Amino acid sequence: MGLFTTAAQLRPIPRSTRFANGSVSFWFRDLGFPERRDPLPGSADYDVCVVGAGYTGLWAAYYLKKEQPDLRVAVVEREFAGFGASGRNGGWLSAEFAGSRERYAESHGKSAFIALQRAMMSTVDEVISVAAAEGIDADIVKGGMRLVATNAAQRDRLAEDIEYLQEWGYWPDDIHLLPADHAPSLAVADAVACAYSPHAARVHPAKLVTGLARAVQGLGVDIFEGTAVEEIRPRRGGVRPAVITDRGTVYADHVVRATEGFTSTLRGRHREWLPMNSSMIATEPVPSAVWEKIGWEGREVLGDSAHAYVYAQRTADDRIAIGGRGVPYRFGSGQDKDGATQPQAIAELWKALTRMFPDVAEVPVEHAWSGALGVPRDWCPSVHMDAETGIGWAGGYVGSGVATSNLAGRTLRDLILGRDTELTRLPWVGHQVRGWEPEPLRWVGTRVIHGLYRTADRRESKTPEDKSHTSRLAGIATRIAGR
Ligand SMILES: Cc1cc2nc3c(=O)[nH]c(=O)nc-3n(C[C@H](O)[C@H](O)[C@H](O)COP(=O)(O)OP(=O)(O)OC[C@H]3O[C@@H](n4cnc5c(N)ncnc54)[C@H](O)[C@@H]3O)c2cc1C
Repeated sequence: MGLFTTAAQLRPIPRSTRFANGSVSFWFRDLGFPERRDPLPGSADYDVCVVGAGYTGLWAAYYLKKEQPDLRVAVVEREFAGFGASGRNGGWLSAEFAGSRERYAESHGKSAFIALQRAMMSTVDEVISVAAAEGIDADIVKGGMRLVATNAAQRDRLAEDIEYLQEWGYWPDDIHLLPADHAPSLAVADAVACAYSPHAARVHPAKLVTGLARAVQGLGVDIFEGTAVEEIRPRRGGVRPAVITDRGTVYADHVVRATEGFTSTLRGRHREWLPMNSSMIATEPVPSAVWEKIGWEGREVLGDSAHAYVYAQRTADDRIAIGGRGVPYRFGSGQDKDGATQPQAIAELWKALTRMFPDVAEVPVEHAWSGALGVPRDWCPSVHMDAETGIGWAGGYVGSGVATSNLAGRTLRDLILGRDTELTRLPWVGHQVRGWEPEPLRWVGTRVIHGLYRTADRRESKTPEDKSHTSRLAGIATRIAGR
């Protein structure tokens, strides 16, 4: 039955002769896989050891070494730099910050969250300027972000969201509704409303992460690839924090865990951050005749306002890459194999793509893949450095980590160097959250939440305009999720 369902789901989708599912991501296939760095040669001693060579770990290493060039910093990576979400994402470098504003305000006050939101906006420019300074060509275009609504419930929700965001750190210039005839045009079929924020840029994720790894190595950081960390041990008595790997043990004064969606695979961390999958597809280059109809000259990153939302970008070589939840969670916090995604996810994304851009229905899909996000139990990202144990970490960014990881990297630098700065006073520093429920509750819960959001979207799209409002099912899903 599964086989037939799969075949039926994929049949209407034109697929390129070069179609691939997995191989980490389209981005790496486009860029070419970099030559692997050597693994850890044996036990070693550093001032700082970072686990995970994604954006978080690399930004932390970058800013530490920039600030204090004599610091001995190592990055230990199981696969290669960018293997995780950092080399697979949608390339939205945006000021969006996941997590409940109210929760951060509860502990630190509203103005502290507003400072965090403003810091996110300047982080977008920080990434762009470091990329320029370090000669990292990551196809960056700061065209802003457009969010479209394609039914009345989405339109009302979009307007409410803007009002809400404007109370929490976005000023009217930072996000607002756009008139329908706004130039440059971006013709999304059935769009009934559109919002715009200038605080976003399109990036090529793999070019950014591999360029960053090169820059970090150029500063004198040792990056060890193909080295699996089994356990991170806190400082015990006189024994320094230790990173136990399959190649030896690294002792360091400070250890940073930067493993995001893979955190649950580390010993003792199984229920910490839920690995939530997000999937993407990329088309072949879209013919210029189709682009003439769509527009999208501004290269804004594009999203919709559904509960199970999608995010998209126009790539530097004129493809459309679009992503969304697909099948969000594998039982027992299981991981994908090399980025392969389920046929159901491909089918859903293609439907979303061709609903937005019917003329793209003839353009073959060239690549499909997925990756794991880290989701804390309260959906709120955090940064930590525990002076007593010597262990720090950052993540739980949910779906917004491209810019957030840079803010985390700079904050980790200040925490490790023992500085009291504006960054270390931001309300996500030290934010605590309990773990996820054991299985099968986790699996059942995520299935139910996902199902409710999908049903809410379907209902909203079918309800007549004058009766349409956000479906109650979405509210129930949000409450179960504990967001
Ligand atoms: C499909 C998809 C689309 C997304 N789109 C966007 C977007 O458009 N905009 C946005 O802001 N965010 C997006 N995100 C989220 C964003 O990509 C992540 O939040 C961000 O990349 C996290 O970076 P990281 O360095 O913390 O984690 P990762 O990039 O996942 O890096 C973790 C690294 O740790 C390594 N590792 C794990 N376990 C071990 C171990 N035991 N030993 C050694 N190494 C280990 C992994 O191999 C990996 O390289 C998306 C995520 C996905 C999956």
